[in-house]
Amino acid sequence: MNLYLCGHSFRYETENLCRAFFPNESVAVFEGDCRDKPGEISVCTKISGGDLFVSVGTDGRTVEKRRSAPAGGDQELLLAALIFSVLSEFTNYEPPWGILTGVRPSKLMNTLISSSSPEDAKRYFIESLLVSREKTELTADVALREKEIISSSRPDSYSLYISIPFCPSRCSYCSFVSHSIAGRNAQKLVSPYVEMLVGELRENARIAAEMGLRLESVYFGGGTPTALSAEQLDAVCGAVEENFNLSTCREYTVEAGRPDTITAEKLKVLKSRNVTRISINPQTMNAEVLKSVGRKHSPKDTLDAFFLARGEGFEDINMDLIAGLYGDTADSFSDSLDSLVSLKPESVTVHTLALKRSSSLVAIENAFVPDGSSVAKMLEFAQRKLPANGYHPYYMYRQSRSVGNFENVGWCLDGRECAYNIFMMEECHTVLAAGAGGVTKLRHPVSGRIERIFNFKYPYEYISRFSELIERKKRINSFYES
Ligand code: SF4
Repeated sequence: MNLYLCGHSFRYETENLCRAFFPNESVAVFEGDCRDKPGEISVCTKISGGDLFVSVGTDGRTVEKRRSAPAGGDQELLLAALIFSVLSEFTNYEPPWGILTGVRPSKLMNTLISSSSPEDAKRYFIESLLVSREKTELTADVALREKEIISSSRPDSYSLYISIPFCPSRCSYCSFVSHSIAGRNAQKLVSPYVEMLVGELRENARIAAEMGLRLESVYFGGGTPTALSAEQLDAVCGAVEENFNLSTCREYTVEAGRPDTITAEKLKVLKSRNVTRISINPQTMNAEVLKSVGRKHSPKDTLDAFFLARGEGFEDINMDLIAGLYGDTADSFSDSLDSLVSLKPESVTVHTLALKRSSSLVAIENAFVPDGSSVAKMLEFAQRKLPANGYHPYYMYRQSRSVGNFENVGWCLDGRECAYNIFMMEECHTVLAAGAGGVTKLRHPVSGRIERIFNFKYPYEYISRFSELIERKKRINSFYES
């Protein structure tokens, strides 16, 4: 698809909006007047004087509209609304998120509510951003649920994120920087990685104490943290326990992730190190779908891991599902969700598949065309099934290139919100990250300004350039001292 920008530079939002209508097309962006290319869809967007003009066409079929943009009005918003109107007519489809392309709808909803009222905020979503009533209500529910946890964050609060970028094998849809430890080369990286990670945690703890910061939550993500051995897990958790002041920490999560990595021994380590919450992520309970996306575990492994964790005393368990996996159908997704709900985990997170270029599913299986309408049915089912069983939506985010442009929503039983997810998504306070691919996000306690410090992405780089990484940490001190 060819997108032409003429007389304006709203490239990012315009491109994302077009992608919502043509999720499987790659978008080539040109500046200047539109030139029709036979056989290709062309979207021409133009601002000239006080006039906005949008035209979409391919091979003789064209829809175009024009409107005036009053001086002082928000031209970007008006142009987006015009593109939405033209593309809806052309495709006969209205994306449920309207012209809202941002990744944090609930953050925007919260900002609007705090400066007006929930009713006004919802009206703005529906009338100005053209978001469907259903998604608007969902966002407002999330925003109102988040309020209490957001307001419990203090100016000196921070959370700790620990990255374990290893997995037992690589799923075909994965776009994370995560190494399969099935190969010997990657295996060899794990031990030195754990050693460096322990060193980085010590440094983070030292700086946090020096700056007088107060730890609210700890989160191990990845990858699959339980891809580490029990001894390695113990070494990392031990470094957390020995170096950080955990007396103020209200929540300690380890995203165990893949059921095939969870053993009684590892669960005992986590329990003994005071981990309060774990995640066991089947993604689907359909054996065929698991196989087709390269996950080497069965639905029974998920059940076994869940009961094992319960037996070891874990009373706060999250389970993840993905809507839109290769080979899945609306019926089989419903069966997966039914099966999870019957276990009564404290929270269930429903993701929408996002197909990034780095996933092998995109590279290899060009034939895989994700089906937005079947994902819509899956999410509708989740939105009925989960509240009927006592779950409420408590956090949400959107990813670029997600099938049908849909969202990811965390659902939980009363009082089981994951505080870290809310703190991170709403950018309530600083997150100090440790490990390859980790991003430290500093939030200014007064102005709310955000500054990021990136760790090296790949484990071998993280290990070989460790001293450089520690040097970068000085920016945390200067940020707070300023
Ligand atoms: S378990 Fe998660 S991080 Fe690991 S390969 Fe699969 S999708 Fe990627």
